[in-house]
Amino acid sequence: MEQYVLTFIKDIVRLSAWLLILLTIFIPVERLFPLQRQRVVRKEFFVDLLYYFLNNLLPKALMIAPMALVAWAARHVMPAGFVSYVATLPLWAKFAAAMVVGETGFYWGHRWTHEVPFLWRFHAVHHSAEEMDWLVNTRAHPLDMVFTRLCGFVPLYILGLANPNAGALDTVSLLFVFVSTLWGFFVHANVKWRFGPFEWLLSTPAFHHWHHTYSEPINKNYAAMLPFLDMIFGTHYNPKHEWPARYGTETPVSQNMGDQLLDPVLPSQAEAMRT
Ligand SMILES: [Zn+2]
Ligand SMILES: [Zn+2]
Repeated sequence: MEQYVLTFIKDIVRLSAWLLILLTIFIPVERLFPLQRQRVVRKEFFVDLLYYFLNNLLPKALMIAPMALVAWAARHVMPAGFVSYVATLPLWAKFAAAMVVGETGFYWGHRWTHEVPFLWRFHAVHHSAEEMDWLVNTRAHPLDMVFTRLCGFVPLYILGLANPNAGALDTVSLLFVFVSTLWGFFVHANVKWRFGPFEWLLSTPAFHHWHHTYSEPINKNYAAMLPFLDMIFGTHYNPKHEWPARYGTETPVSQNMGDQLLDPVLPSQAEAMRT
């Protein structure tokens, strides 16, 4: 018990330190290069701060069992020769392959959260943000996070690009999580930076802000980092100089965090959401 409390306290300290680093980076950048004029402490800022802590603690714990199962299954599905060949690849090649494979898994997981009504009940929480900034990245139902993260990781494990080692993440998984998490904060940020000729390769705030548009064209830009996946799968939308006029979703989502967490799992509440 004491061990759990200690680990929990250590996690909170580590997350607070990271939060401080993120605040130090993103608040000045959003002030210097703003897309919209808006307050730092915008609507539901504190709710999203709570999501920051919740979503950095809970999904990790919830993923231990399914990840172990996937790792076990992966060892029995892939030919041993293929897995040992992948293991000999240099780190950079494994990381590059992991980015494309993991992102493709994430793309489809994310797309399903929009197309399957049961999954959308959870994902709507992320889309209920009406003002965009870096912190919107953490605003998500923990089960939604678990689902899309699993979709990203399962192909990595099956192809042997990531190897679970006694519950700890290996170098490729750690790099993948680190880079995609930081990029996740960036693409939500209220900044007007564009990447010109490289926008097919690397996502920008504009690319992901269009994913959050309130009105048509909705259900575009599912990729987290690699927009060419949306081009391949026919869901790309990123005009050169335009930005969405309004963010959010028509699906009603409560402003109360407790309701946001419970509504998707309670059938009666879910019924009310559909009407
Ligand atoms: Zn989405
Ligand atoms: Zn988003």
